[in-house]
Amino acid sequence: MTTELLGLQHTQLIELCLQAGVKPVHAEKILASVFRYNNRDLASIKELPLQLSAYLAEHVSILQPQCTAKQQSEDGTRKLLLKMNDGKEVETVLIQGSGRLTQCISTQVGCAVGCTFCLTATAGLTRNLTAAEMVAQVMAGQEISHRNVRNLVLMGMGEPLHNYDEVAQFVRIAADPKGMAFSPNRITLSTSGMVPAIYRMMEDKLPCNLAVSLNATTDEVRNRVIPINRKYPMAELMQAVNDYIKARGNKRVLIEYVMLAGVNDSIEDAKRLCDLLAGLGCTINLLPFNPYPGAVYESPSDVTVTAFRDVLVTAKIIAVVRESRGRDISAACGQLKTEVARRRQSAT
Ligand code: SAH
Ligand code: SF4
Repeated sequence: MTTELLGLQHTQLIELCLQAGVKPVHAEKILASVFRYNNRDLASIKELPLQLSAYLAEHVSILQPQCTAKQQSEDGTRKLLLKMNDGKEVETVLIQGSGRLTQCISTQVGCAVGCTFCLTATAGLTRNLTAAEMVAQVMAGQEISHRNVRNLVLMGMGEPLHNYDEVAQFVRIAADPKGMAFSPNRITLSTSGMVPAIYRMMEDKLPCNLAVSLNATTDEVRNRVIPINRKYPMAELMQAVNDYIKARGNKRVLIEYVMLAGVNDSIEDAKRLCDLLAGLGCTINLLPFNPYPGAVYESPSDVTVTAFRDVLVTAKIIAVVRESRGRDISAACGQLKTEVARRRQSAT
């Protein structure tokens, strides 16, 4: 049995060095070479003692998922399909902002939450991804972009807080200044509202930002669109967001709000949203629904979206309408579903 190197934090790399009988300082060389410079060839790290190289060759493996498809959208968004060792495929998306790139990372194959507006939900959950499989997604993104990825968003396939331990391990690896060196301010974890796990993130001081997919302003509507709301209703969720903001020294939380025509996009909804967010240090992203074949919802009109946003802005809430990126390659929010993407690709 070998140990998967990409899933190890600095402290675990130090343990590895000690087991190999060499000084812990060599862990930093592995961090820099593998995690920062994407080098998978351990034998090529010249400064490592022979004893350590021999130990690594025998006891350690490095995941290298095969990239089975690459697609590029008209707007520059790129989607990679990565095949893991068991044949399961996951998607990761590179979104070009002004300057550096944002990479959207998948945390599970599928998802068990079952939101009624989300394509990923339709196939249910296949399995959790490991921290190493998330690190491998970032390495693939860095390779294709010549190390230009600056922001990570855990908004791909899956509910990150249903896979807490592996996701937490991944976030710590990504934020290690001696390794991948992503600023914690540039890592954002998005959840559909797993209240106990939000408290766990708080206690663990997980080095990342929190985003919460609110998507409704009443429990009645939220129960319909995000079934987990029956377990963790809105009052509990908003309390958790409030507590999180306080515990993190008034750090802003991102609220995501998928706008579904005729369901949650009225002016009354906008006003209720203002009340819910009043006094909270939040920024809100409005995500007009991205349609897909068979979807039961529709996108609101631009006029509706603008009127909704204006209510929030008038109440001094920072509200941004997220234009959908990569729609033509089904890489936009909620459209990350391997089978569908493949069928589409093979049809073209
Ligand atoms: N499971 C996590 C993260 C992945 S989903 C979560 O739900 O937060 C990332 C974002 O995409 C969420 O805010 C979700 O509400 C949104 N989303 C899902 N399907 C969508 C769709 N069809 N159109 C627009 N946004 C969608
Ligand atoms: Fe899962 Fe998020 Fe999709 Fe809901 S929106 S089914 S939590 S991936």
